[in-house]
Amino acid sequence: MSNKGKKTVTCPHCGKSFDADFWTVVRGDLDFELKEMIINGEFDLLLCPECNKLFSYEDTFVYIDPVDEIMAFVMPEKNEGSSEIMEKVKADYEIIKSENPDSLTMAYKPYYFLGAESLAELLLNDRDIEEETEVMEFMAKERGFPQKEIKKSVAREKNFLFSIPYEGSSCCVSSAVSACEKLLKENDSLKRLSSFLNFLRGASEEDFKSLLKK
Ligand SMILES: [Zn+2]
Repeated sequence: MSNKGKKTVTCPHCGKSFDADFWTVVRGDLDFELKEMIINGEFDLLLCPECNKLFSYEDTFVYIDPVDEIMAFVMPEKNEGSSEIMEKVKADYEIIKSENPDSLTMAYKPYYFLGAESLAELLLNDRDIEEETEVMEFMAKERGFPQKEIKKSVAREKNFLFSIPYEGSSCCVSSAVSACEKLLKENDSLKRLSSFLNFLRGASEEDFKSLLKK
């Protein structure tokens, strides 16, 4: 689960100090409430127990979601020295990674963000991909096209859907091209499906297989 730390902070409204809880590790796949708070921009808000006013206070945390293939280091956007700390975190992470090559969370490239807002943008973009994926899957099911999930980290990076359709029993470049073409003929607003089709046209079977989730 997620982890917490404590820190003394001073309220900018009344000047009183108090102990506040901070999340140091957020598990996006387990803590939906925290994930929502990040998306809604509420994650960095503290409530002063003295004057009951809200204020923003950023701290460094790690966001991990192995299901969605996200590992993100988030540093305060406004604090001085954040970019230096970020460089140090990057370097440290590379060392840990080289010492633990088999760890699950290290199978994909980590993200480094200044400010939780940038992480929120990624999570919102994921929602957008999910919605478009649902539309495609609905259409594919109607035509009896099976679908296969692709690696989320790759889909996010290349702006593809989270799954891909294919026609017939074998999932390969040609059966995927044919399913994509048929679906796009009916709905040309599926822009991520169309960018996937563009990729497929120049892809080898090996390129294609490397995208698929194991
Ligand atoms: Zn206060």
